[in-house]
Order: sequence, then C-alpha cells, then structure tokens
Amino acid sequence: MSATARQSAIQTIATTTHQLNRISFKEKSLKDLFGSNVFNEAEQKARLPKPIFKALQKTIKQGAQLTDPAIADAVASAMKDWAIEHGATHYTHLFQPLTGLTAEKHDSFLSPSGDGTAMAEFSGKELVKGEPDASSFPSGGLRATFEARGYTGWDPTSPAYIRETPNGTTLVIPTVFVSWTGEALDKKTPLLRSMEAISPHALRILRLFGNTEAKKVFTTVGPEQEYFLIDKNFYYSRPDLINCGRTLFGAKPPKGQELEDQYFGTIPERVIACMADCETEMFKLGIPVKTRHNEVAPSQYEIAPIFEDSNLATDHNQLCMDVMRRTAEKYGLVCLLHEKPFAGINGSGKHNNWSMSTDTGENLLNPGDNPHDNAQFLVFCVAVIRAVAKYPELLRVSVASAGNDHRLGANEAPPAIISIFLGDQLQDIMDQLEASNLKSTKQGGYMEVGVSVLPKLPRDAGDRNRTSPFAFTGNKFEFRAVGSSFSIGGPNVVLNTIVAESLDFIATKLEADVKAGKPLNKAIQDLLPGILKESKKVIFNGNGYSEEWHKEAEKRGLPNLKSTVDAIPQIISKASIELFSKYKVLTEKELHSRYEIFSEKYVKEITIEANMMVHMAKTMILPAAVRYQGEIAASVNAAKAAGVDVAGQLDELKTLASTIAKFQAATKSLEHAVDHHAGGDAYSHAKYMKEKVVSGMESLRVLGDALETIVSDDLWPLPTYREMLFIK
Ligand code: ADP
Ligand code: MG
Repeated sequence: MSATARQSAIQTIATTTHQLNRISFKEKSLKDLFGSNVFNEAEQKARLPKPIFKALQKTIKQGAQLTDPAIADAVASAMKDWAIEHGATHYTHLFQPLTGLTAEKHDSFLSPSGDGTAMAEFSGKELVKGEPDASSFPSGGLRATFEARGYTGWDPTSPAYIRETPNGTTLVIPTVFVSWTGEALDKKTPLLRSMEAISPHALRILRLFGNTEAKKVFTTVGPEQEYFLIDKNFYYSRPDLINCGRTLFGAKPPKGQELEDQYFGTIPERVIACMADCETEMFKLGIPVKTRHNEVAPSQYEIAPIFEDSNLATDHNQLCMDVMRRTAEKYGLVCLLHEKPFAGINGSGKHNNWSMSTDTGENLLNPGDNPHDNAQFLVFCVAVIRAVAKYPELLRVSVASAGNDHRLGANEAPPAIISIFLGDQLQDIMDQLEASNLKSTKQGGYMEVGVSVLPKLPRDAGDRNRTSPFAFTGNKFEFRAVGSSFSIGGPNVVLNTIVAESLDFIATKLEADVKAGKPLNKAIQDLLPGILKESKKVIFNGNGYSEEWHKEAEKRGLPNLKSTVDAIPQIISKASIELFSKYKVLTEKELHSRYEIFSEKYVKEITIEANMMVHMAKTMILPAAVRYQGEIAASVNAAKAAGVDVAGQLDELKTLASTIAKFQAATKSLEHAVDHHAGGDAYSHAKYMKEKVVSGMESLRVLGDALETIVSDDLWPLPTYREMLFIK
C-alpha cells in the first residue's frame, strides 16, 4: 500500500538533516552588520555634498519639504553608486497597497548609450516618482479602469536599502502610492499624514509647558510580532495552509498548551538557527530586533524590535515578516503569520507598543521625577485616555479582518470590546486627580497638578494584564488587538489621529485659560477631572475575558463589535469622516474606498476558505472516511460469516456512516452557500458571507474533525495537529 502524503511527510522529516550553521558572528560582528545594507545617515553624510545632506536631513528629521530638484538628482546619483557597490543591478519602488502586503516592480539601472554600449543611470526623477501598472491593486472605486494610473512617490523619511537575493541585489526605495488625483491608495500615505496631524497639537501643549526647543513630535512604535514555525513537509501536505494560511480542519490534539511548558521554554535548535539567520538579515537592513522567545502555543514564537518612529517601524515590520517568511524556507520551515493557524490553540497577534516623542528625544508618556514633568505626563496620558474613550469603534475597526475574527473575543485574545488598563498606581493617580473636583464628597487625599510628586510607576515587566486590549505599560500604551499578519499602518493611523484630536481639544482649552490669565497648573487641574469623568467608562483593570466584564461593558455603553462585518461600517461613520477629514488624514472619498476594499477583502478571503474546505472535504476527507467504512463493512461481513458477534463493530460502522452522511450534507450545503450570485454592494456581500458561509464552515469543520477521530490513522491523509505542532 502506498503511503499517504501525511506519512511521507513524517518519514521525510525524520530522515532529513538541515544545515544549521550558516552564520559566524566571530567573522562578522553584530555591530558591523547593523545597517550595512541601508543608505543611512552615515552613508548619506559620506557621499552627499554637505548642503544636500543638510537639506535631506532637515526633511527627514523635521518634515521640511524637499523643493529643489537638484537635491533629488544628487541623492539619486549617490544612492545608485552606493547600490552598485553593493551588487545592485535593479531598483524598485516598494509600496504598501491596501492588500496589506508590499508590492514592487523592478527596473534595471541599464541605459543604452547609443553606440552599442550601456551605462548605469538613475535620475532624481526616477527616484522621486514611479508609475507601476496600478490597475490591479484595490482602489475601492478611486480609479476607474480607464484611468488606472497610480504613482509611487519617494518617502525620504524611510531610508532606501539593498535587498539581497540569489544572483544579485536590488535597491529598494520605500514609497507612497497615490492615484493620479493624489488620493491615497496605500497604507503609508495616511500614516505619514497622521504623524503630521499629531505633531502641531502636541507642540502646542509643550509650548505651554515652556518647551521651546522641540520642533517636531512624532509617534513611536515597537511591534511585538508573534508567529508559528512548522516543518515545510507538513505545510505542503495541507492545501488549507498553503492557500489560506490556516488549517480549516484539524481535531484538537491530546496535548495542546495546557501543560504551559512552552512559554519562554528552551527554543528548539532548528528554530533558533532560523531566528538567528532572520536577525542577521534584519540587522543588515537596520531593523533593531532585540528579543526572541517561545510563545504560549506549541511551535509559536515572538520577535520584538526596539521601538522606532512609527513610519519606520511600520516599514520595518513589513520587512521583518518578509525576511521571516523567506528565511524559514532555508531551514525547511514555514513561517505562519495568520492570526489563527490552528483552532483551539493560541492565535498570533502583534502588540503595538505606542508612544509620542519629541525630536529632542523626550518620551511624552514617561512619568517624570518632578511635579512639572508629572503635570506634562498627566496631560498627554489623559489625552490618550480621552481619545480611546471617544473613538473605540475606530480602534476596533482598525484591527478587523477575517483572520483576526478568530482571535478577538475568543477566550485567549483581548475581547472585541475596547477598554484601557491603567494598573493600580496609575489608576490611583487618576482617581485622585478626578477627586480634586469632588473634594467635598470624597475623603482622603487628592493630587495637585504641578505640585504633587507622583509615586514611581513600575515599568510593566511581562504582562500583568494580558486580557486588556489597550494597556498602559510604564511609559507607553500597548494596543494588543492587532493581528499578526496586519500591517501596523492602519491601527497607527487611527491611534495617531484620535490622539491628535484629543491634544487639539486640550491645547485649545489650556491656551484659552492661560491667555485669560490662569496659571497653567490651575488650568490643568480644572480641565482634567472633567475629561476623566467623561472618559472613565473605558477604563477597566479587571479580567477582560470574563463574562461579567461583557455585561458590565454593555451597562457602561461600550461598543462590542464582535466581528469584522459588525466593525466595517465604522469606517464611514459620521464621527470617522469628520475626524479624518478635519485632520487631513483621509478624505470622505478615501474612507469610502477603504470601506469597499475591506468589505471586498473579507468576501474574497471567506470565499477562498469555503471553496478550499469543500475541496478538501470532497477529495481528501470523504475518500478516507469512505475507505474506512468499506474496511469495517468488509470486516463485519467476514466476522458474521465466521459466526462471530459483531455488535460492537456494527455500532462503530453506524456511527461512521451517519457522520459521513452528515459530513456530505454539510459539504453540499456549504457548497451551495458559496455558490450564490452575489447581488448588491461589497458590504452586503460581506454580511451574507458572515451569516451564511462562515456558519456553514463552522458546521462542516465539526464533522470533519469528528471523522478525524474515527477514521483509521493509516488512512488519514492530512497531517494532524499533534504532528504539525510537536514534530520539530
Ligand atoms: P514589556 O512589554 O515586556 O515590558 P518592553 O518594555 O521591553 O517589554 O517593550 C516591549 C516593546 O515596547 C519593545 O518593542 C519596545 O521597544 C517597545 N517600547 C518601549 N518603549 C517604547 C516607546 N516609548 N514607544 C514605543 N514603543 C516602546
Ligand atoms: Mg507586551
């Protein structure tokens, strides 16, 4: 009998040895590697004429516009020379379309000279603007197909770098992607706009505190990235993993994560070799990766960089995912970035650690050591609390996707209800602050802004409250509901913009009071308690997974947008359109296009999954089950003929036969549900998919998983959870 794909996979894994020692840090030290493939400040300084270098740095650090075309020409020329020294033959404008992935088209530096020879050329024009064939990227109606032009535009604030591939290297230039009328078709454009939105209002507040030095405030992000690594042989035997990134069938393994022996456990050798290789590649690209460890689920891991400015952090996180996917292959592994590759096992997220910083290096969410710094900290902190309380729906929709629906609200990831965890100390401070307005009714002390010294806030070591979607962790907030496969661009656009609105609100009030002669501390003391009172409904320090919280949240009137389909309309809510237009981050038209695109994306993902399920049900699971049914039936007949009691076997046969019948019926009904003619707009279609198709998938899965526990092991074609997660 020939082996099943599953048996061959296990056999191959057992007999393959991998070349693990590929890198020697004795030969090349970390510090020499770091940034070696980046056209960074040091390279720019070494290669550019001084005035050009200065102008470029001014753009990068203070956001000044690059006006002189001579600058682009000079930068292009230096970049090209540098790239060619690094073995580059081509360059590409890398952009981030709304698929959530990155896209690129390569052009060579080659330019024929007319006499049969050729030169390497790269002009300022080519650096600044590119025109990829944009017609096949989602635009949500922003481009009619006859006007399919989309442009990429150089983002000088994210440095160009060299991507090494077999047979040469490519110069990669980070870019924005916009339509010919200037509308954003990507994730980067609104992110840059949102960073521009927050800066002036944060500066207004800093000026009130007497800060005259800071010229710019930007947001910082350190994304902790979770992922799974499994053997490539298993992956190739699972069409669902290949096509959907997650398993659509798979019975719960006898050993899951209940022993809790995985988190921070010893990292397997092949995995650590792969991690070190990934990190080497990331160091070369100037990505400051810092931490690696095992995560909660078997075969799940985490990598975290040191935080950077949000734009760079977003680009680097995209790169990080790309490097991980490509490097894993060298070790016979596959990196799974889906939010829920394995049902019933912990999913993967991306903790988005977020703060605000001045260009002079001051973290604005760092509580200080003196009353003056404390007061400033309180203002910025309360601004964030107000923002989250005012726009929880927008944060929720920024993390909505078909994949993340398996995490949010399930009993392992933060709930779909957006709330803030402050921790005991900060909660106590906020209580006292609020109480200063209620002196007469509340006993005990209250704090005086600008006079009281705050108690030292502990830096959150580890995770004191993993159940909160939005937690204060010492000197930053951590937005934990982001999915592992997401671009962090979207969630940070929302965070930056809602906080910009809050800072604007607070700055306006304080400026007016101060202008009217009120001392700043008094103005703050008068303003913050009211804001806290209004916003405190969003603060919750308890267990976010508990049933009581869900009831309590409902009582408090907090939104609980359970699924992507529930969340998507928030993109075009009145509040959203007003906010994003006011701060010039996304126009109403751009929001509508995103609403369309996210609806379409949901529909497409669910359609692919449902079709794949039907296919696997018919061509893999059903044949195995029917074969086994035949075996038992034959055995029953033979035993009967021999005069043996077959009651037990008959029961088994009946259970199997009836499960098969139900499985077939569920397959048919899912097939029917997917195979409908979609009428109406993208959103109605998404709704239909959620109501009819997703539920059909759930029913079919239960039956398929039941068959896995009945059918003879030697006939079962799909690698099982116990194998994929534990054979390393
Ligand atoms: P933990 O969350 O376990 O306390 P860390 O404090 O080391 O761990 O931070 C986790 C992540 O938060 C890291 O990526 C780190 O760089 C990032 N981080 C730390 N400070 C900031 C900040 N000011 N802004 C944004 N991210 C930050
Ligand atoms: Mg964390």
